[in-house]
Amino acid sequence: MEENINIRKDNISVTDKEFEKQLRPLSFSDFKGQKQLMENLVVFVTAAKQRGESLDHVLLHGPPGLGKTTLATIIANELQVNLRVTSGPVLDKPGDLAGLLTNLQEGDVLFIDEIHRLSPIVEEYLYSAMEDFQIDIMIDKGPSARSVQLTLNSFTLIGATTRSGLLTSPLRARFGIKFHLEYYDHEILTGIVKRSAGILNIAIHEDAAVEIARRSRGTPRIANALLRRVRDFAQVVGSGEIDLEITRYGLKALNIDQNGLDEMDNRILSVIIDKFNGGPVGLSTISTAVGEESGTIEEVYEPFLIKEGYLKRTPRGREATEHAYKHLGKQFGQNMPGSLF
Ligand code: ADP
Repeated sequence: MEENINIRKDNISVTDKEFEKQLRPLSFSDFKGQKQLMENLVVFVTAAKQRGESLDHVLLHGPPGLGKTTLATIIANELQVNLRVTSGPVLDKPGDLAGLLTNLQEGDVLFIDEIHRLSPIVEEYLYSAMEDFQIDIMIDKGPSARSVQLTLNSFTLIGATTRSGLLTSPLRARFGIKFHLEYYDHEILTGIVKRSAGILNIAIHEDAAVEIARRSRGTPRIANALLRRVRDFAQVVGSGEIDLEITRYGLKALNIDQNGLDEMDNRILSVIIDKFNGGPVGLSTISTAVGEESGTIEEVYEPFLIKEGYLKRTPRGREATEHAYKHLGKQFGQNMPGSLF
């Protein structure tokens, strides 16, 4: 049996989305982990509230599924303002953005997901809105067409990106608050799995929650997705309760290995080792060899493989580490250029 646990948001089905909504923390106290970020955020939100001002614009960056959308929801809730959600690729022309901006009430939060994918013309239009809360709009057509300056209510823009390197510096400079989200450790993920199980009314043993957490690539979205899939195995193959045995059975069926790497992670490492002697090899070559977009490899798979020490990024390309060889049961040094084997 083969199944992919979705990491990317654009891959998530409608039921997964509903499920995510149900499990999304709504207040500071519900949100687990990202300790330093949260401590600072609480200060900034409290200060803005005390002064009766809108919060400075916030940029959230980090791999998918770590809680950027969740944080935007929480910030709006804590500020007791409305949240408007959109995303970079959806905002085709300045008019789309103008429509959104003019409908914002004082202090509202506008969340733009995948902000690195805004078109340059929309991005430029955003600058004056962010800085002076003003935009120019065109009224009338033909010879009587003219541009009028509109003053907006002050608002907070929250931009989320998986690839902060792709943001232009003028846009980046307009965010007063910038946060990087880190992968979660096992302990915090275990807490997230147990919280989700509680909300969904699922009986789960402590060691099973730890096992799911350990194999979730440090990512709450994956932890929640694995919990849901393991629940299916528990219901159909097991006793209904999630214990360690059924968890291991389910994770094996889902091709999640002992260290929590999924099929694509392992494919990337195998390709580098078997086809390119461990590297260095360029991203686009890996992308062609494994049949996955290079952007997805770069923003979804690589950060975790690098963090866990399986992969290195060098100026000449990607290299598999000794840890990757061991993980795949291969001998380090074998097939390497200049080796005697
Ligand atoms: P992103 O926007 O970074 O891709 P999301 O905010 O959509 O990620 O988070 C994905 C899911 O993970 C959400 O449904 C939420 O339930 C869960 N989640 C993320 N971060 C946390 C957290 N710190 N505590 C509890 N659940 C979380």
